[in-house]
Amino acid sequence: MRVSIIGSGYVGLVSAACLAEVGNKVLCCDIDTAKIDQLKSGSSPIYEPGLDELLERNQREQRLDFSACIEDAVNHAELIFICVGTPPKEDGSADLQHVVRVAQQIAEHMNGFKVIINKSTVPVGTGERVAEEVRRVLIQRNALHPFTVVSNPEFLKEGAAIDDFLRPDRIVLGTDHTPAGQRALRMMKALYAPFQRHHERLICMDVRSAELTKYAANAMLATRISFMNELANLAEKIGADIEQVRAGIGSDPRIGFSFLYAGCGYGGSCFPKDVRALIQTGVDAGENLSILRAVNNSNQRQKRVLVEKIIQRFGEDLSNMTFAMWGLAFKPETDDMREASSRTIAAELVLRGATVQAFDPIANETARRAMDEDLTNFRQDGPLLGHFEIVKTQEDTLINADALIVCTEWRMFKSPDFLMLSRTLREKAVFDGRNLYDPALLADYGLIYEGVGRRAEP
Ligand code: NAD
Repeated sequence: MRVSIIGSGYVGLVSAACLAEVGNKVLCCDIDTAKIDQLKSGSSPIYEPGLDELLERNQREQRLDFSACIEDAVNHAELIFICVGTPPKEDGSADLQHVVRVAQQIAEHMNGFKVIINKSTVPVGTGERVAEEVRRVLIQRNALHPFTVVSNPEFLKEGAAIDDFLRPDRIVLGTDHTPAGQRALRMMKALYAPFQRHHERLICMDVRSAELTKYAANAMLATRISFMNELANLAEKIGADIEQVRAGIGSDPRIGFSFLYAGCGYGGSCFPKDVRALIQTGVDAGENLSILRAVNNSNQRQKRVLVEKIIQRFGEDLSNMTFAMWGLAFKPETDDMREASSRTIAAELVLRGATVQAFDPIANETARRAMDEDLTNFRQDGPLLGHFEIVKTQEDTLINADALIVCTEWRMFKSPDFLMLSRTLREKAVFDGRNLYDPALLADYGLIYEGVGRRAEP
């Protein structure tokens, strides 16, 4: 089939590469001409395991091409995916300006039947809004081409996105009951047929339910994390160990082990923004989503949990202190720094005069840009007392460091040389935001260990 993808970010590129991989002719479009030039020259603007290889093969075999021209994309295919960003507005609601703009542009160039597929995460009612925009522009053009809008939210996880797309748990399709909607459903079923394994993965529903499904999934996962974070904070105060509690409750199949890890808060491009957007949808609909408000507030606090432990140990003035920071990305296997906890922690320490020496195996470049932005914002409120630096290796972070902070659970950080850490760190302190280490083992090495909800003695 012929497919166009508008928006070549994490979702757009992965979708494009995977759809091309099974034989579709895919044209991937973006307004960012530098990104398109880079993609055309054979290099990917984002890090995602396995993506480079898929992009290269499908480009070489001429199933995948890139363009900065939306007209080309509209002409190329009947199936047009919208994969642009839906960042949060000031009030937390999703900013739909990119989605609406793309809808208008599709309508400006429409030349026949089109299926417009919303893959971006969008609030309930956006399918109708997109349809209204398209209809309005078509009426202006006096060109009444048939079209329909499908909701096909994306559930891929950064870091495992290719596998998630090629072998999905489920594919949600929201369509309406018009003949065009039903025709679109047949086309979408055919498009996704190669990604179904032993049994049906498609879950078909109406557009509004599909839109809500995406938010419900992310809100549920964020809730589990925040629940465990709060229990971890409690466990610390009452002498329990959250890792033992996790093992105890996860073994109940009704609960399960996934997303039960306590830590220094969730980040990324989805959970924080989607929780806030759903709260705002509730406000607009007159429904107070009190659990999600608590989840959001709890996560903001959790991002500061390590900072509080550091202040408790070393005091508010950190001007003579140097911290090694391992991991910057919001989670392993990605270079995504959006709402990463490392940003909050580093900024808070620098504000108190500390030097932070950080290293991430993949996200150093995106982190540099993100931190520059954050620290520039802070600088407007007064001079910065400390200093943030990204160094070349994990070992370099430890030079003259007083303490180590672990922000991201990259595999390479899981089993470090504890003897070397205990000899190198001046204050012999490890602040483990992802509960990677055994407190008792670190104590054996003479290291002070602060995890999230851990008990130091066995
Ligand atoms: P992204 O910021 O990485 O990419 C969005 C791309 O859209 C950018 O390259 C931008 O230049 C482009 N764009 C913006 N306006 C455009 C226009 N008018 N025409 C063409 N291109 C335009 O975003 P992302 O992470 O891929 O997320 C996209 C959507 O998918 C969001 O709604 C997000 O919530 C959702 N989502 C993301 C993930 C994820 O893990 N990143 C997972 C599931 C769903």
